[in-house]
Amino acid sequence: MNDIIEKKARLTMSLRAQAILSSPVLSAIETIPREIFIDSALKQHAYENASLPIACGQTISQPYIVAKMTETLEITSRHTVLEIGTGSGYQAAILSLLARRVYSLERHRPLFVEARNRLADLKLTNITLRLGDGFSGWPEAAPFDRIIFTCQVEHVPDAIIQQLKPDGILIAPIGSPGKEFLTKLTKKGDVIHSEKLISVRFVPMVPGIEHV
Ligand code: SAH
Repeated sequence: MNDIIEKKARLTMSLRAQAILSSPVLSAIETIPREIFIDSALKQHAYENASLPIACGQTISQPYIVAKMTETLEITSRHTVLEIGTGSGYQAAILSLLARRVYSLERHRPLFVEARNRLADLKLTNITLRLGDGFSGWPEAAPFDRIIFTCQVEHVPDAIIQQLKPDGILIAPIGSPGKEFLTKLTKKGDVIHSEKLISVRFVPMVPGIEHV
């Protein structure tokens, strides 16, 4: 127990050293137990600042990247957020402590089912998950104040841009595979401003749904 508290403190200290300054983001990282989103064989690494493999050949992002993306979104408690790529559900859990409601899409059924169970165990009731293809977004719940992609895309699909509110912020790893940059898009009227942040590595966004 004390061991986990110490590991969490060390992780938040290293995030601060990497210029993550938002107290709500740091406290969300301290609050959500990352170990429950990770396979049992890797649990001892839960509070290392590293990405880790999860089921279906996917990955849970590095805490620094989760923190950086969350901070860039400037989320308030009035915001509705769409996530594309639920994976383990960890990023959705972090978002849920800051936003009013989180919608998250995942294309792999086993990941969707596991994430749903974990988030229910944590009693995070302001998250709605769906097995679906992120290329179509979530038209019934749109428009969103904030949108986050946790998979690499060459370009953000038009359908998704249309689901972002005016003055909304979207963050995504944009670029060809292996050459993607975390990119912040801001919608001002019909104009999209784009700002490249840092070079990152993500699993690719893939169309369609996988049932196994
Ligand atoms: N946010 C996750 C990171 C998951 S990795 C976490 O906190 O654990 C990215 C995820 O995007 C993978 O689970 C992958 O299956 C999913 N993904 C890829 N293409 C997708 C698509 N078209 N629609 C929905 N999810 C997609």
